[in-house]
Amino acid sequence: MSISVFELFKVGVGPSSSHTVGPMVAARQFVQDLREQHKLAQTDRVEVHLYGSLALTGIGHGTDMAVLMGLLGEAPDTIDVDTIDDKLEQIAQNASLNLASDHAIEFNRERDLQFHNDEFLPQHANGMTCRAFDGETLLFERSYFSIGGGFVLSEEDFAHKEQIATLLPYDFSSAEELMNLCERHGWTIAELAMANEKAFHTEAEVKAMLWHIWQVMDASIQRGCRQHGTLPGGLKVRRRAAELYRELSKQSEEERRNGLAILDWVSLYALAVNEENAARGRIVTAPTNGAAGVIPAAIAYYVDFVHDPDIHGDLKDQVVKFLLTAGAIGMLFKKNASISAAEVGCQGEIGVACSMASAGLAAVQGGSNQQIENAAEIGMEHNLGLTCDPIGGLVQVPCIERNTMGAVKAINAARLALRGDGAHIVPLDSVIETMRQTGIDMQSKYKETSQGGLAVNAVNC
Ligand code: SF4
Repeated sequence: MSISVFELFKVGVGPSSSHTVGPMVAARQFVQDLREQHKLAQTDRVEVHLYGSLALTGIGHGTDMAVLMGLLGEAPDTIDVDTIDDKLEQIAQNASLNLASDHAIEFNRERDLQFHNDEFLPQHANGMTCRAFDGETLLFERSYFSIGGGFVLSEEDFAHKEQIATLLPYDFSSAEELMNLCERHGWTIAELAMANEKAFHTEAEVKAMLWHIWQVMDASIQRGCRQHGTLPGGLKVRRRAAELYRELSKQSEEERRNGLAILDWVSLYALAVNEENAARGRIVTAPTNGAAGVIPAAIAYYVDFVHDPDIHGDLKDQVVKFLLTAGAIGMLFKKNASISAAEVGCQGEIGVACSMASAGLAAVQGGSNQQIENAAEIGMEHNLGLTCDPIGGLVQVPCIERNTMGAVKAINAARLALRGDGAHIVPLDSVIETMRQTGIDMQSKYKETSQGGLAVNAVNC
């Protein structure tokens, strides 16, 4: 199944792609399905049942909020994040909600939104079932699966997900196929990705859309650098980006560009984005929300400290090249392993984002396709086995800091690859397969259930 880079970079809302963006998309889809079945007008009550990881960490990940917003007809990329609290307040006060914004039904949160902590649907760890009733009569029922990165499949789609293919002119299923295609056509990875995107849009449109993705990423950095206080959820995590930004802004230009001081800026960019994500702000899912800071931090590092127009050319073209390259690498993980922490742990979030960022950085610094593949491989190889164990089920600790580590590791992976000639022992395909197998072997308590690791060993005060 080949996909577009825009399925890996989506404007969304925090804090989680699988537990916030996905459930919002699914609940909205349910209401649309209900309308298509001509049963919306008859519906006087809906029930949403959350299973597995969605139930276990749903409260901390804002899944309840996301489901309600989806039922209202809101979408992750367009919802005004500043209105969410008011909308929740209204639903609670009136004990009712407007399905698809125009069909009022009663809504009792305890009765109609149920968390099944001990039950997993057989198909996937992130399952939810939606039911519509007319009185006691069940009108319509459908299950949906949030399979990572905000992707949602209905139970029907899930049954034949291997057949859901997007026919692209230059389809590839493995890194080896990608490299061979590039060699055959004399293209860079970014050029091949662009050729595929042109199946849907003009080149100018693709460039404009990717530049917009970067603009939203950059805005999340800027906004994160201005917000103070503690993050929601009860863990009392203090926002650090604004204070760090104020400190770093005092540096002279010489101090700022002095060796390891650059890493402070890289950490700042990642902290800012992920604090915004934890505060349910506007971010770009890249390829997930928990890891949304890695790629923006890597691009901001390039923009602020590396890019030289005389050497690298137009900045916009370079950012587009970064995102196309990173997107092509992300597709390989999506297809052959997973970008869902509920399936493979944090390898699938920070690990994949790091690998994508490593490839993007190598590309914009003039790396060959072999060096880019090497960078992507290094970026994942040293994240293998990374577990998902967020404290309190919140996408805060270790998640926010972990993005700084992912970004710094990506810079190092790109540098290591660019110092070599592209030759390396472990192919990217082997690392992806190793990541998949490691994810299968990983116990469920380390896969976004908050039942192991830091989630049980750190004091939750
Ligand atoms: S630990 Fe990693 S995978 Fe788990 S929620 Fe945090 S960032 Fe996402």
